[in-house]
Amino acid sequence: MGSSSDDEGEEYLFKIVIIGDSAVGKSNLLSRYARNEFNMHSKATIGVEFQTQTLEIDGKEVKAQIWDTAGQERFRAVTSAYYRGAFGALVVYDISRRTTFDSITRWLDELKTHSDTTVAKMLVGNKCDLENIRDISVEEGKILAESEGLFFMETSALDSTNVSKAFEIVIREIYNNVS
Ligand code: GDP
Ligand code: MG
Repeated sequence: MGSSSDDEGEEYLFKIVIIGDSAVGKSNLLSRYARNEFNMHSKATIGVEFQTQTLEIDGKEVKAQIWDTAGQERFRAVTSAYYRGAFGALVVYDISRRTTFDSITRWLDELKTHSDTTVAKMLVGNKCDLENIRDISVEEGKILAESEGLFFMETSALDSTNVSKAFEIVIREIYNNVS
C-alpha cells in the first residue's frame, strides 16, 4: 500500500544453473525464458554468462540470475566456479537423444560435488516438439526424477511449451526453502 512498501520489501537474488550435455537446448531454454527468443542454428554461447529475471512472490521482488555454459560441457570442463553459490538447477536432456538422458546421473553427481547447500532441481526433457523421433518416454523421465528427488517437466524451447513454468517452479521452490 503506497510508498512505504519499498522500504519494507525484502529482495532476493538466487543463482540458478543450467546443465546437461551439449546441444540439448540449454541456451535456447534461457533465451526463450529471458528474451522470448529461439535460434535454430545457435552456436556455443559467446559472452553472456547469465541473464536475470525478476518475479514477484508474496509481494517480494525475487531475482533469478540464470547461468548458461559457454559450451564448455563439450569438453567435460564445466568449472566449480560455474556451480558456486547456486540454489537451483535445471538438468536438461533431449527427449530425442538417449545418450543425453544417460548422462543425467553424471550431471547430478557433478552438481552434488560442487554445491554446498540444498539445490532445488528440475529434470527437464527438452525438445518435446520432436514427438515423431522421441527416444525417451515421459514415463522414463518421471521415474528418474522421482528416484532422484527432482521436479520433472518436458519442455520445448522451440514452441515455448512449459519453459517459463520449469524456471518458475524452481525459483518458487528456492524461495520456499529460504523464506
Ligand atoms: P545447448 O548446447 O545445450 O546450449 O543447446 P542449444 O540451445 O545451442 O541448442 C542446440 C540445438 O538444438 C540448436 O540447433 C537449437 O535450435 C535446437 N533446439 C533447442 N531447443 C529445441 C527445442 O525445444 N526443439 C527443437 N526442435 N530444437 C531445439
Ligand atoms: Mg549452449
